[in-house]
Amino acid sequence: MLHIQDLHVQVGDLPILKGLSLDLQPGEIHALMGPNGSGKSTLGKVIAGDPAYTVTSGDLQYTTDLKTKSLLPLKPEQRAGLGIFLSFQYPPEIVGVPNEEFLHASFGAICRAQGIEEMNKEDFHVFLQQKIADLAISESFLSRQLNVDFSGGEKKRNELLQLAVLSPRLAILDEIDSGLDVDALRQTAEVLKGFHDDDKALVLITHYQRLLEHIRPHHVHILRQGQVVVSADYTLAQDIERYGYDEVLASHVCGS
Ligand code: ADP
Ligand code: MG
Repeated sequence: MLHIQDLHVQVGDLPILKGLSLDLQPGEIHALMGPNGSGKSTLGKVIAGDPAYTVTSGDLQYTTDLKTKSLLPLKPEQRAGLGIFLSFQYPPEIVGVPNEEFLHASFGAICRAQGIEEMNKEDFHVFLQQKIADLAISESFLSRQLNVDFSGGEKKRNELLQLAVLSPRLAILDEIDSGLDVDALRQTAEVLKGFHDDDKALVLITHYQRLLEHIRPHHVHILRQGQVVVSADYTLAQDIERYGYDEVLASHVCGS
């Protein structure tokens, strides 16, 4: 689905990703781990098309409907139209934009891009009721301004609501588990498991094995200094939890 090929990315003159390669196939769940500042969020934002980041070399090749094309010339909204979704590590607060209107506008834009019939406000409201019930979200979420004065956990839950509404093919979730209590964490994992299927790829950026206990990734990668330095199965996340990055990285570099 996505072939990330020797990606080099910088902000201004500062190199951040330094030759990062990764392949994501439909049906796969990948966990992206790594020390703070290793480039995990940057990778998510570059895939989504954040213009703050300049790709200096390498490519992002995306395959949909048996056609492969580079994402690099595409704007964020065009990438979203192709089914790419990023939930933010720090969801922005947008004053003056009611949550429900934002969701309806986003949903409409995705429908138009994909040639699917849009829903009017009333039908969309009914559709949303089911989604918020699945997520145990209160109705008041919908009339509030987008993320304004939401708690950390509420912002994360609102990102999940966007995921449920937009139903992307490739979802990158940046620390969707941060700030969640144990019950909310389990519920998040259930939502993600319900969402995921053989046609979708899921990338979970996380520091903790806790989420991955509930939703087991097929592949776990460690990023360090802008590169993927170790890729393995789920046991890698367990090792990181037990021994920490330094020790795990040292043992992999030594091959022991
Ligand atoms: P991670 O998510 O793995 O903690 P990030 O991708 O957020 O790491 O950041 C990687 C490095 O790039 C950090 O040193 C960070 O300060 C830097 N960086 C990321 N985005 C920007 C930006 N927009 N401007 C300047 N530096 C940035
Ligand atoms: Mg980050």
